[in-house]
Amino acid sequence: MNFSKLPLSKAMLDTLEKLGYLSMTPIQAESIPHIIAAKDILAQAKTGSGKTAAFGIGVLHRLDVKNFRVQSLVLCPTRELADQVAKELRKIAKFQHNVKILTLCGGESFGKQFSSLSHNAHIVVGTPGRVLKHLNKGSLELTNMQTLVLDEADRMLDMGFFEEVEAIINFTPKSRQTLLFSATYEESVLEISKRVQHEPLHIETHIDESPNDIEEIFIKSDNKEESVVKVLSLYKPQNVIVFTNTKLAAAELAQSLQTRGIDALAIHGDLEQYERNDVLVQFANGSCPILVATDVAARGLDIKELSMVLNFDMAHTKETYTHRIGRTGRAGAQGIAITLYEQSESLKVEEYQNDERSFKRDEELEGNSTFTLAPKNVTLVIEGGKKDKLRAGDILGALTGTGVVSGSSVGKIDIYDKQSYVAIKSEDIEKALTHLKRNKIKNKNFSIWAL
Ligand code: ADP
Ligand code: MG
Repeated sequence: MNFSKLPLSKAMLDTLEKLGYLSMTPIQAESIPHIIAAKDILAQAKTGSGKTAAFGIGVLHRLDVKNFRVQSLVLCPTRELADQVAKELRKIAKFQHNVKILTLCGGESFGKQFSSLSHNAHIVVGTPGRVLKHLNKGSLELTNMQTLVLDEADRMLDMGFFEEVEAIINFTPKSRQTLLFSATYEESVLEISKRVQHEPLHIETHIDESPNDIEEIFIKSDNKEESVVKVLSLYKPQNVIVFTNTKLAAAELAQSLQTRGIDALAIHGDLEQYERNDVLVQFANGSCPILVATDVAARGLDIKELSMVLNFDMAHTKETYTHRIGRTGRAGAQGIAITLYEQSESLKVEEYQNDERSFKRDEELEGNSTFTLAPKNVTLVIEGGKKDKLRAGDILGALTGTGVVSGSSVGKIDIYDKQSYVAIKSEDIEKALTHLKRNKIKNKNFSIWAL
């Protein structure tokens, strides 16, 4: 299972080692040799099993850096996932200089993307709508494209997306390699996949991969909101993703949990891009313990150390259930997945009965329904980022240099193009905010506020 078994360059192997990727996951071991051999692949492997690096290593190995054309296109269902995939590819791409990876997603300035494209890119990662728009306007050209990847492929080929994906495919050469990756496939999707692939190799690693370590509990409840609070008081998870079936339900549940003193934020497709970013950053840096999400918004997201998934609404299909609970117990970690159901859903729940799952009634839960949950951090936003040459060290230095704020009060620092986010221990937020507002960072004054 060692990466050195693969015909990869020494530089690539060194980079993987630096990333802490010491041995291949089963999907990586089984798919990378075929990707390198230019085969079409339909790959199925469990959630959190390193599918991104599987296609990423393959695609980057095949890349010709001297050819300034788009050689690979990776399509994802959401911008957040596209960003995450691009980040992973950039980490792996460090093994050689000048690999240009560009994201093309909706909610961003079209003009800016237009000019980035005019400077050429080797790999484009994007969402279908925006990629198609660039193809139609002629700002993106795929005639030299080698590899098309559909991440979360079952989602990309289902009715919601297929029309756009097919239109994109019509801009690509017939000779292309097409790679499909997901944890689940429904029969109907397998049929459609035949239309976009050429004699694909089916790789299913779930036979030889050990199942994720996720404790699954189903709880029958007459009052789901009360049950959520009880569950939180009982298990005291660090952070939780709560799933609802609709955007409206997500927004409403986050709101009513907040009223109960449980700090929660919602993420769904109706939020503006900057709002979604603010929410995800706060969730990832410990400034908000509960994220209420819809299925599409959370597909594929790799959130480090997520302790619990809570299904407030039952998933409509088993595939959706798999993707939801797969946000926890990733890359060998442990997780808990709790599903709430009402009396009227008892029949549907029977489909989920198996030896590993336990079933309880809300009355049996000993939790406390007046429990409250405050975040341990608050996020500071600095109106300056990579474009201003800001680095994490500059921000940390400005905060702690004079000893007003101690280093242990400062958490994760995320630097984006024009903004940076800093997690600060809740009790020190006023101090940090006042201090930063009075002092310059890198000899400049930036607007600063707390989220
Ligand atoms: P999937 O797409 O299969 O759900 P991801 O590609 O998001 O999973 O990977 C899950 C996590 O595993 C990521 O944090 C990634 O950095 C990590 N990972 C990937 N490959 C390896 C490896 N070979 N060794 C250790 N960690 C890995
Ligand atoms: Mg993935």
